[in-house]
Amino acid sequence: MTAFWSKLQRTLPRAISSMSALLSPSAAVCLVCGKSEYQASRTNFLSLCSSCSRAIPWITHIKCSICGRPESCSDCIRRQDTSFLLNRSAVRYDSLIREWLALYKYRGHEALEPLLSEILLAAYQRLLQDLRKRNSSFQMDAFIPVPVSEERLLERGFNQAERMAAYLSGRTETQVHEVLRRTLHSDKQSFKTRGARLRDTQKLFTVDDQSILSMLSAIDKRAVSHQSSNSRSSSLAPPILHLLIIDDIYTTGSTVNACAAAISESLQALCLEVQTDIFVLTLARS
Ligand SMILES: [Zn+2]
Ligand SMILES: [Zn+2]
Repeated sequence: MTAFWSKLQRTLPRAISSMSALLSPSAAVCLVCGKSEYQASRTNFLSLCSSCSRAIPWITHIKCSICGRPESCSDCIRRQDTSFLLNRSAVRYDSLIREWLALYKYRGHEALEPLLSEILLAAYQRLLQDLRKRNSSFQMDAFIPVPVSEERLLERGFNQAERMAAYLSGRTETQVHEVLRRTLHSDKQSFKTRGARLRDTQKLFTVDDQSILSMLSAIDKRAVSHQSSNSRSSSLAPPILHLLIIDDIYTTGSTVNACAAAISESLQALCLEVQTDIFVLTLARS
């Protein structure tokens, strides 16, 4: 594991710089701080100057295998029922990421969207690599963004989780399925105590039956074509569905856990005999 992470730390900047060269071949002004950098650095991440690029607080060492936290973790021990298998976050929610997310979410700095999405994509590719060590043919079947309330949507004009999920979908073969609905508006999570957050998220989400059925039929078609292309026997047991919930910030995990629980309950209520493994991907771990 340690060898893998150190290898990743060496190879990630190179992979990222080739990506950034494709996306912004002549970027000279930093997207975030506005500083001009005339000598193009090979380590630049998208349109960032080398100092902003170096300041990205990547999470490379994971201590809690459930929530992907870089420190030892009491939340996962305290949680009674965890409805998802694991969360992975790309970066720590430090002052820099807080500022970038605030610029993007509240001040409409849309140019940050590809940057934040590429950071999330790097964590997604790392997650896939990990999962494929256990199952070499592992595929993610659907991306499910955490919805925001109607009120937030009106205020902000977009749902950041949905936008980042759409970006990831464009870079991979996995489709976005917006199956979750927010049942009530909750106040800003960041101002609440842990207990208040946990109580509020109990019934915060429902699943739209029609959307979940169309998601299942889309996945089923792909599974069938995948099987026939591998000329496997149709008598094989149906594959386990791999769903990925996507959000911007992971704090206690109560929001994504409520989402995962709502999806599992909905599948049970619809009496669908499908097995699902639910994973979570978040931009930042607070
Ligand atoms: Zn900069
Ligand atoms: Zn944990």
